[in-house]
Amino acid sequence: MPNSATPTHCPYCALQCGMNLTPAPDGTVEVSERADFPVNRGALCGKGRTAPAVLSSRVRLTSPLVRSGGTLVPATWDEALDRIAGELSRTRTEHGPDACGVFGGGGLTNEKAYTLGKFARVVLGTSQIDYNGRFCMSSAAAGGMKAFGLDRGLPFPLEDIPKSGCVILVGSNPAETMPPSLRFFTELRENGGTLIVVDPRRTRTAEQADLHLMPRPGTDLALALGLLHLVVAEGRTDEAYIAERTAGWEDARAAAMAHWPEYVERITGVPVPQLRETVRLFCEPESAMVLTARGPEQQSKGTDTVSAWINLCLATGRAGRPFSGYGCLTGQGNGQGGREHGQKADQLPGYRKLDDPAARAHVAEVWGVDPDSLPGPGRSAYELLDALGTDIKSLLLMGSNPVVSAPHAAHVEERIRSLDFLAVCDVVLSETAALADVVLPVTQWAEETGTTTNLEGRVLLRRQAITPPDGIRGDLEVMHELADRLGVEKGFPTDPEEVFEELRRASAGGPADYSGITYRRLAEENGVFWPCPMPEKDVPAGAEDVHPGTARLFLDRFATPDGRARFVPVSHRAIAEEPDEEYPVLLTTGRVVAQYQSGAQTRRVDELNAAAPGPFVELHPRLAERLGAAEGDPVAVVSRRGRAVAPARITLGIRPDTVFMPFHWYGEGRANTLTNPALDPTSRMPEFKACAVRVETVER
Ligand code: SF4
Repeated sequence: MPNSATPTHCPYCALQCGMNLTPAPDGTVEVSERADFPVNRGALCGKGRTAPAVLSSRVRLTSPLVRSGGTLVPATWDEALDRIAGELSRTRTEHGPDACGVFGGGGLTNEKAYTLGKFARVVLGTSQIDYNGRFCMSSAAAGGMKAFGLDRGLPFPLEDIPKSGCVILVGSNPAETMPPSLRFFTELRENGGTLIVVDPRRTRTAEQADLHLMPRPGTDLALALGLLHLVVAEGRTDEAYIAERTAGWEDARAAAMAHWPEYVERITGVPVPQLRETVRLFCEPESAMVLTARGPEQQSKGTDTVSAWINLCLATGRAGRPFSGYGCLTGQGNGQGGREHGQKADQLPGYRKLDDPAARAHVAEVWGVDPDSLPGPGRSAYELLDALGTDIKSLLLMGSNPVVSAPHAAHVEERIRSLDFLAVCDVVLSETAALADVVLPVTQWAEETGTTTNLEGRVLLRRQAITPPDGIRGDLEVMHELADRLGVEKGFPTDPEEVFEELRRASAGGPADYSGITYRRLAEENGVFWPCPMPEKDVPAGAEDVHPGTARLFLDRFATPDGRARFVPVSHRAIAEEPDEEYPVLLTTGRVVAQYQSGAQTRRVDELNAAAPGPFVELHPRLAERLGAAEGDPVAVVSRRGRAVAPARITLGIRPDTVFMPFHWYGEGRANTLTNPALDPTSRMPEFKACAVRVETVER
């Protein structure tokens, strides 16, 4: 490995900030600024800056572990791989292929996600594969597919944000989740544009907004409908655009007109004058955007909520035009690519549908198998976890820690404990890995090469910068070895570029077409936006022989059969669990700047732990006074699913009817002990963002 700086990308969130990594003589790795990458221009948050600490962490796994006599003990790679292959084979023989489950992650590279999907369907023959990205982006994906015929988080680069006239940021807190992106919103305001933030908390992002709307958690759908009602009532629709570029307006219009502003104020708590001001600020400039994140999406009506915000964009001509549109700020590092290449229960590579005969035939040909041998769609993430120990007997888990990150987590933990067999690939002994029968220590980010696709749809090359410690292998090697032991000797290469070459062929002609992208291009061009098909075979002499990629989607037509965007008529409905006498308060959950997702990596970094040492319960002074709780007092938050205890953090920046908990920790402060697994009927997204709780003081 070189001693010079290697340009690569951060392992954490979907911004995929560029950074340089240089091995130091003392064995550590130095992070330095990589100003040439346009997304972050050298800026990094604390998580990215300290990411190398996990590479050399004292808690890093360096040997396979196999459970023996109830304890995980070190084993050789052959012992560990033989045990996994033997257990998966036994499960398949005794209970059928669907008794083997596979659970992936939105942090896996495209090559790993692709190979994991192929491994499940070709080697195990199971339909039971899904991944934690289901908990991240599935409602936005479903809403985007319905309206535009295509799901790409942002249909434009982040650099378009400052050129827009107005951005409504719904349920997103980039100041904490992806701090370097905040400059795009700052520049928007410096250029005279307006930032409107919709959030039940006065977050660091909301503090920078021109207008902050604070709806009750779980009412974003009603809010968007109320805004559309006002758009119509005030004559602010773009009739020419609606006629030329959309379909289905009349039904969507009729649904919105049933949501009078005063009715919406009663549901959301957002005063009518603020609704009117939002409409004015959104409609007056030439261009405007709506960007959603987990707030409106992680609801049992997340897909309808996304549709309502898209309807607002379409009715005002704010989609498929410069500096306008609807976008989703994806969360996980490869949240975008991870959902495109086959680890999702209903998908094949290239964002193809598993139940489409033509898609099955295409991918089966690339894989060299009979299309009829490919299983059909399986269960979504929560449903898969809920079936562990009953229908699903053995699980292979890669890049996920559902004991902390899944909703109704105590139940999920109990389901995992009831498995006949669990194998986990991870870099540290996460809370889920600690329950496994076999744990495989695998390489991470800086120790391996692979591609990711950031929230803009920009495919990136993450380069290997250092040599992994002895005793550690890559996930691709794990799948190669397991496939071999399970009788599939070919088709599971360990070289990521070789996997990517196959992924290119598998994705060719699909919605997420990567066939025109190569490692060489990614290295030279600082990323390429998909879709990027192969150039036509007979390129005229002198013409450009590579597709440039597609930075901006939908400018000429949407990806529907007739090129028109679809309005989807939706109406307000309540969350699955409204507050009542017994559980009178709403709980909403989220992230803090110094921790990432389940904390499996960031909780191993001293600097981050010092900044964010543990969970807390954020509550309004009025609620605190009613409880008799002071700042720092332990308080219990109780839902129908369990109880979590954490210190009170009292702030005026939250609604009095709502409490907030970050979800990065295990133990008595695990926020997901409380959350509701009620699922969206389309996206199968659980309702992380709103459930009924009561709050109690705790004697200590
Ligand atoms: Fe890494 Fe995201 Fe922080 Fe950038 S914003 S450094 S990608 S965690």
